[in-house]
Amino acid sequence: MPLPGLSEAVEVRDSAVHGRGVFARDGLARHHVVGIYEGRRYTAAQARRRRWDHGLTYVFGLSDGTVIDGAQGGNGTRHLNHRCRPNCEAVEVRRADGGLDIVIRTTRRVAAGRELFIDYALDVDDPGAPEYRCRCGARGCRGTMAAMPATR
Ligand SMILES: [Zn+2]
Repeated sequence: MPLPGLSEAVEVRDSAVHGRGVFARDGLARHHVVGIYEGRRYTAAQARRRRWDHGLTYVFGLSDGTVIDGAQGGNGTRHLNHRCRPNCEAVEVRRADGGLDIVIRTTRRVAAGRELFIDYALDVDDPGAPEYRCRCGARGCRGTMAAMPATR
C-alpha cells in the first residue's frame, strides 16, 4: 500500500543497511520525485529550545532554521538510509505561502529493486562522535553521517 506523500514507484521494506529502507519498486529516472519529507514542524526558535535526543535520523533541518521531525506524522521518506555516495538528494522548494518543503529526488537513474539513499550531512557539533559513525561501505565513505566542516 503506497504511503501518503510517497511516490508509488518506491516502497518501504527491511534494509540490510539499517532498519527499514526505501527501495525503487520500478526503475526510476533521474530527478524522479521520491516524496516530500513530512512530519511535525518546529520553528527555529522552537527547535533551539528542544533537545533532539531521540530519533536523530528522522530530524531534518531546513536552511531557514525550521526543523521537521519525520518521526511524528512523517511518511515513508523518513526511512531513507544514509550513504556517503547517495543516489538521491534533498532539495528545498519554496511553497506559494513562502514556507519551505523538502523534496527528495533521485540524482541519477536507479534500477528497480535498488535501495535509495541520501547523504544525511548532519549538522552536529562533533562529527567524530560514535553515534554518527558511518559504515555505508561506499567507496569514499567519509566515516561519519555528519557533514564535514568544509561542506557546512
Ligand atoms: Zn559512509
